[in-house]
Amino acid sequence: MIAEILSVGTELLMGQIANTDAQYLSRRLQELGVTLYRQTTVGDNPARVKAALGEALARADIVIATGGLGPTEDDLTKEMVGEFFGLDMVLDEASLAHIEAFMRRVGHPMAENNRKQAYFPRGAVVLPNRIGTAPGCIVEAEGKAVAVLPGPPWELKDMFDRALAPYLARRSGAHLESRFFRVFGIGESRLETMLKDLFHSGNPSLALYCGPGEVMVRATARAKDAAEAASMLAPLEAELRRRLGSAIYGTGADNSVENVVVERLRARGERVSVAESLTGGLVAARLVGIPGASNVLDEAHVTYADGAKRRVLGVRQETLDRFTAVSERCAREMAEGVRRISDADWGVATTGYAGPDGGADGTPVGTVYIAVAGAAGTEVEECHFRGERDFIRTLAASWALNKLRLALER
Ligand code: ATP
Ligand code: MG
Repeated sequence: MIAEILSVGTELLMGQIANTDAQYLSRRLQELGVTLYRQTTVGDNPARVKAALGEALARADIVIATGGLGPTEDDLTKEMVGEFFGLDMVLDEASLAHIEAFMRRVGHPMAENNRKQAYFPRGAVVLPNRIGTAPGCIVEAEGKAVAVLPGPPWELKDMFDRALAPYLARRSGAHLESRFFRVFGIGESRLETMLKDLFHSGNPSLALYCGPGEVMVRATARAKDAAEAASMLAPLEAELRRRLGSAIYGTGADNSVENVVVERLRARGERVSVAESLTGGLVAARLVGIPGASNVLDEAHVTYADGAKRRVLGVRQETLDRFTAVSERCAREMAEGVRRISDADWGVATTGYAGPDGGADGTPVGTVYIAVAGAAGTEVEECHFRGERDFIRTLAASWALNKLRLALER
């Protein structure tokens, strides 16, 4: 099955918003084993929407259109799908009731143009919108299908996952099952080399998704049922674990290093405190972002100036004078200091040069020291990151969380 994405919205063409809907859909289509060769973006212009739809349908079995389901004049995607296939627009009573209830709940009067959102090309399968007002739809005609989804990303994701993904799986007549492995500390190209021979099998298929400092490996099996998929995925998983070992920190598409850290700490009944310099609170913020952080996070300090490192954490003046604040020694004293003052089981510290300038002593931008102090001693890692200031800070925070994760696994 070949799909195309048709993104509708003048604000996309003007660069006012990024096309995250297309990115999300592309990723999900890949997971589902649906082939995608093209994406098109077109403004809110009836003639151009209709023309783009026709061109996409000439190439693909299914076109997924996003945006233009709203109540206003320029929201016209559904109408153009109807016109293209010569289908008139008919009222869907259930959708009208849903929109009326939604408007009542948010306390807005029902405007005449809200009714428009309840009209669909004749014969369309209506996809309910659990988050906003505008339902989506699937129109099947002339051996092809067009799905129309709302533009707002949360509405789009919810509708895709609940309604369109099962539809696509049914239509392609296969059982698809994916497993996700989160890998930290091995770059994409090295990972690709390590797994090279496994990419060729086709089914199960392997794909890599790259994030800052980490890569997600997806294994997808196409099978006749769940049992067959599981028996295809089990040996592949064993092989991945054999090759990647503790670089795999978790499974599941939505897992994160901080998730795993909070889980492990909680299981061990232990707590952590954090002392941050260049990351400026990023490590703490990521921990606090996980529900349950209150059980495992004691305190966090942003000690940016040398004086603060000395006064709050007890870093020695001699250390700062001899080695500077960006040094193995300073990171060590920061982690041990925050562990000591807070009485936590673990102390984590970051210090480094995020840029644009490196150290006066010639230490280059991107030099970062990460320390983890625990009952068994302190480990410090010297890292060299490349990129812009924010990227280096994000990487440093991720690395610090991963270093703690590794310590918690021992
Ligand atoms: P609404 O009922 O809000 O009008 P809609 O289905 O008509 O929804 P649009 O009007 O095209 O959709 O877009 C509504 C909002 O959704 C946009 O302002 C934008 O914030 C977001 N949006 C639309 N298209 C995309 C996209 N391709 N990627 C990311 N966000 C998008
Ligand atoms: Mg709109």
